[in-house]
Amino acid sequence: MTEIERECPTCGSRQKFRRLDAAEKAAVREVKGPRHFVGDLWRCTAPRCLWYQPHLHRGGGGLLPERFRTEETDAAG
Ligand SMILES: [Zn+2]
Repeated sequence: MTEIERECPTCGSRQKFRRLDAAEKAAVREVKGPRHFVGDLWRCTAPRCLWYQPHLHRGGGGLLPERFRTEETDAAG
């Protein structure tokens, strides 16, 4: 799985990001509309963080729904 590092505005620190999975992309489209481009969205993998954003800029970012919040035990490493 490809990972990148970005400054996460929610965590307030540099974090690893991974691409959104299918369920996460669907959730973004529920909010942004069915034609919203979700192929280049990445989410922060820090425990309990819901931030996502396009690869290169924070402008199109936002927060995923609560159901995607990861417990700390799920995100070790
Ligand atoms: Zn974060």
